[in-house]
This record gives sequence, C-alpha cells and structure tokens, in this order.
Amino acid sequence: MSDTEEKKVALVTGAGRGIGKAIAERLAASGHHVICVSRSAGSCGPVADAINASGGSAESLAVDVADKAAVEAASEKFLEAHGTVDVLVNCAGITRDGLLFRMDDADWDAVLSTNLGSCFAWSKHLGRPMTRKRKGRIINISSVIGLMGNAGQANYAAAKAGIHGLTKSLAKEFAARNVTVNAVAPGFIETDMTAELNEQQQTAIVGMIPLKRMGRSEDIAAMTDFLASDDASYITGQVFTVDGGMVM
Ligand code: NAD
Repeated sequence: MSDTEEKKVALVTGAGRGIGKAIAERLAASGHHVICVSRSAGSCGPVADAINASGGSAESLAVDVADKAAVEAASEKFLEAHGTVDVLVNCAGITRDGLLFRMDDADWDAVLSTNLGSCFAWSKHLGRPMTRKRKGRIINISSVIGLMGNAGQANYAAAKAGIHGLTKSLAKEFAARNVTVNAVAPGFIETDMTAELNEQQQTAIVGMIPLKRMGRSEDIAAMTDFLASDDASYITGQVFTVDGGMVM
C-alpha cells in the first residue's frame, strides 16, 4: 500500500497562507494526506513542499474556487487520482468591504462566490463519494461576522451566514450517510486578512474580545482537526465560534 492509501485524504481550500495553511499543516501532523488548494501554484505549492519536507504527506492543487466549473473539473481529476476523500475543509475566503450604497455589484458577487459558492461547489462534488462510502467530514470556515453582522461587510456577513444555513442543511441531508457537516466561526485572527486593519481598528477589536488578544491560525486549526477526528463522530450541523469569547 502506498503512503497516501494508508492515510485519510483531506482537501483544504485557501491553504496558501493564514488559517488554511495552519489547517493543512495540522491535518498533516495528525496523519492525513493533505491536498493544499489555493488560487495559484505559487502559494499552495510551497505549503505542500514544506509539509513533505517535515515528514508529512501533501500535494498542491491550484484552483479558483469561485469558478464552479473549475471546481467540478478539479474534483473529477482529484477523484480519478485518489478515488475518494475523507475530509473537506472549505477555508478559502476574501473580503471586499464597503458600506452598502458604495458597494459595487462586482464586490458583492466576488465575496458571495468565493466564500459561499465555493462551499456549495466542493460539497456537491466531493460530498457524493463521501455519502457513497458512508463516511466523511465537511468543515466550513465561516466567521463571527456571519452571526453578528458588521457595518461595511454586508457581502461578507451574508456569505458567512449563508455558510451556516448550508452547513445545517447539508448536515441534515448527509446524516443518514454518516457524513458530518460543521462550521467553525473564527473571531479576529492574526493573518494577512486582519493585517489590513489599521492600528486604531485593531486596538478597538481587541477591546471587544474578553480574552483581550486576537486569535492565532493554530487556534482554528485545532478545532478543525478535532472535528475531522473520530472523536467528533457524533457532532453535526453545528457552528463553533473560536473567538476569545466575543460571541456568547
Ligand atoms: P488569507 O487572506 O490570509 O488567506 C486566504 C486564502 O484563500 C489564500 O490562500 C488565498 O489564496 C485563498 N483564496 C482566496 N480566494 C481564492 C480563490 N478564488 N480560489 C482559491 N483560493 C482562494 O485569509 P485568512 O485570514 O487565513 O482567512 C481564511 C478563512 O477564514 C476565510 O474564509 C476567512 O473569511 C475566514 N476568517 C478569517 C478571520 C481572520 O480574522 N483572519 C476571521 C474570521 C473568518
């Protein structure tokens, strides 16, 4: 048996950096063969290389997750190579902030298709082999903004709240087939995405967090790894906030 046949196979989108990269590394450390997906081979390639160099098992796959036809084609190719998938983590996401009257249609569409449409497309194409095998895990990375809303982020909040509805619906559709579907809703995590906030905004955010610090990508990776594990087999349709206590 080859190395990848012995290991559970996990596909992680948005694995080029930030939270997705930490999730890919963590799943590799817990024994998965990880397919690191991002838009460009220049970002997911080095992540997979580093995992392999440190004794894990990974490969990279460059796909624009906002392009449903590309996701379908990539899924078919992926399934031809691997036959199956055990864990799907939908983590790719973008922001295009602006108050509603100034928000371009293009910014609405890009955020909805990248954050929410991608979860629909990957779940549709990789959920099928999971239901056939009667085992699988889908973990969608949403945001506390999907629970709270946020001025200037109507597109992002709608996409992330949509992920919660999708998660709960698919959990009900797939439960009879022993496939669990959950969401992890991070609070404010130190990544390139939050580095775009100015110092004043960052100070104001930390002031709202009971644990008085931003989270780390590893905090989200730990929860995701747990949900992917056998210990989480009786948990489905849930949204887990990992946010230093912001949403209670
Ligand atoms: P990031 O910007 O650092 O990384 C995003 C990753 O997604 C990159 O690897 C990028 O290549 C990939 N990606 C973006 N658009 C893509 C596309 N069309 N096709 C393929 N890949 C694409 O972001 P992050 O901070 O690590 O956030 C990761 C996820 O966590 C996102 O879904 C984000 O909404 C969510 N989140 C982040 C925070 C935070 O504070 N950083 C908080 C809540 C939720």
